[in-house]
Amino acid sequence: MRFDEPKGHEQVLAGLFAAAREDRLAHALCFTGPDGAGKFLAAERLAMGLFCAKGPPVSGGPCGACGPCKRARADSHPDVFVIDPLAEGEEEIKLERITPRTGASGGNVSEFLALKPMEGGWRVVLVRDAERLNEEAQNALLKTLEEPGASTLLVLVTARPDLLLPTIHSRCVRVALAAPGEELARALLLAAGVPADEAATSARWSRGAPGAASALHRRGAVRMRALFVRVLAGELTAAEAVDAWSELEGDFDARTPSAGTRLRARTFLDLAIEALSDLRRARSGLDPARLAHGDLATAAWVPSAAALERQLEECLRARQDVDLNLAPDAAVERALLALEPVRAPAPRTSR
Ligand SMILES: [Zn+2]
Repeated sequence: MRFDEPKGHEQVLAGLFAAAREDRLAHALCFTGPDGAGKFLAAERLAMGLFCAKGPPVSGGPCGACGPCKRARADSHPDVFVIDPLAEGEEEIKLERITPRTGASGGNVSEFLALKPMEGGWRVVLVRDAERLNEEAQNALLKTLEEPGASTLLVLVTARPDLLLPTIHSRCVRVALAAPGEELARALLLAAGVPADEAATSARWSRGAPGAASALHRRGAVRMRALFVRVLAGELTAAEAVDAWSELEGDFDARTPSAGTRLRARTFLDLAIEALSDLRRARSGLDPARLAHGDLATAAWVPSAAALERQLEECLRARQDVDLNLAPDAAVERALLALEPVRAPAPRTSR
């Protein structure tokens, strides 16, 4: 399930379209906000509005019916250059995507921007997960940001702006896109045919980010969290949970099987980290009704404060290992081991 429209960001886009009409749109934007909030959809929408034969829309979205709109929707507009590392099967965005390097394939930003616009209007570069730009690539991008050229727009899209160099930020206008909210996320899932209870759960766990809610649903998060809970509650040993983990299925769309395995591990560990964090928040007095995983706070098996800290730390470490490209299944295994409650040692029998 993919959402076509960036719901909930209409106002921000209207402001950007107005700026484009009045020729005061910045040449570099940084779209920030939570994962799955619709940031990249909004960036695509902005590009479509710039390309639209009717010009940037005065109200509502681009017409969607003209040639440029159709080409933009079909990802075949010649004046847009997209870098989408995870879809390309890359963990990081390397220098070769920004400037020409011998032996590199797939095109780069400098060469793209050196071309005349094919349709005579804007040229747009969209960088998804821009925090994955390595330092070399960020430095190379700075040069482009210094002299962007006329009718050029670069949109960096990221949920982790803190990982971009301050010099990048100083050259970009930051555009904050909040998660559109639980209600909208739930409605979008329902409209896509997701059963009501699962739509509600996924929307809540996503904290109102529709893309994240959709991913949670597709990846079988409900079954993943059930497994997490059974280990925490001591119903399954870590060893049993590892077996159950390998049997869990979901849709982890990735270009290579290894990327799919990493995505699977990330989804599980993110869910575990979120749930443990919510247990900690509830312990600190936050209202469980306002927490995504607040329903767990009243369980009989809730770990002690010390156990919670240890479990959280291990899960965070495992999550980091997955990002560092270490074996994802081993990282999940270690996290499951840390989640297993410490059993009281069997009492010694005295003779
Ligand atoms: Zn159009």
